[in-house]
Amino acid sequence: AEARLRQAQKMEAVGQLTGGIAHDFNNMLAVVLGGLDLAKRQMDRGTGDPRRHLDNAMEGASRAAALTRRLLAFSRADALTPEAVEPNGVIDGMFDLLERTLGEQIAIHKQVHACDWQIWADRNQLENALVNLAVNARDAMNGCGTLRFTTDCVVLQSGEVGQCPAGEYVSIAVTDTGCGMTPEVLERVYEPFFTTKPVGKGTGLGLSQVFGFVRQSQGEVAIRSAPGEGTCVTLYLPRHIPMAADQQPPASAIKAISP
Ligand code: ADP
Repeated sequence: AEARLRQAQKMEAVGQLTGGIAHDFNNMLAVVLGGLDLAKRQMDRGTGDPRRHLDNAMEGASRAAALTRRLLAFSRADALTPEAVEPNGVIDGMFDLLERTLGEQIAIHKQVHACDWQIWADRNQLENALVNLAVNARDAMNGCGTLRFTTDCVVLQSGEVGQCPAGEYVSIAVTDTGCGMTPEVLERVYEPFFTTKPVGKGTGLGLSQVFGFVRQSQGEVAIRSAPGEGTCVTLYLPRHIPMAADQQPPASAIKAISP
């Protein structure tokens, strides 16, 4: 019986992993298909600049290629490559892509606190998390509305946000003017496979992946949402302070404290 339970747990883990990857891949294909569709329509009409949309499709395709490369890397057990990343820069780098993916009816705003704190995270995972949040916002807004990215540098007290220990954090808030969530939905959003979307549209893995990524990075997710009032998802990620060469303790100091 124990072996069967272990097997079931293993299968569940494999299911969550492959489901998560399929979810990301699906988002990327949505970018590719969306871009191709818009380009085709513009070419049919003979107006606009289809090249932009083709560029978008190509970018989506290369992200999908990067995902499969990471998948291969994962099977060699060197999946995540955390590095010092500046969230503002990541959002800037994705802005065009997000804008074109969400369509013309959704306005995207970016409010960036003038601070360049870095975090220690896998860049691709951060990008995937932001795409997940944007796609959720798009679905909640039914085609039109406003999506806002707000980054900030915050100092949290212990227990102020979930399990976060006291310290310095970069916060990234993604706010939409969509339908919002009932308390019953809000309670279950992190559950893998929990979705209120029709079959084929939602997998229920978006927010559980966002949560997994943020927890892996020692951060926390906070969601504020109410029916008719939109949703705000905030990621808190611990600040990473790069150690400059001239700030490293001199070798003599290290010797002094070692036994
Ligand atoms: P999926 O998007 O595939 O359904 P998620 O885990 O990303 O999976 O989301 C789970 C559920 O949480 C969604 O089906 C939806 O009901 C709700 N949800 C997530 N984000 C939002 C949002 N921005 N606005 C309203 N509801 C949301």
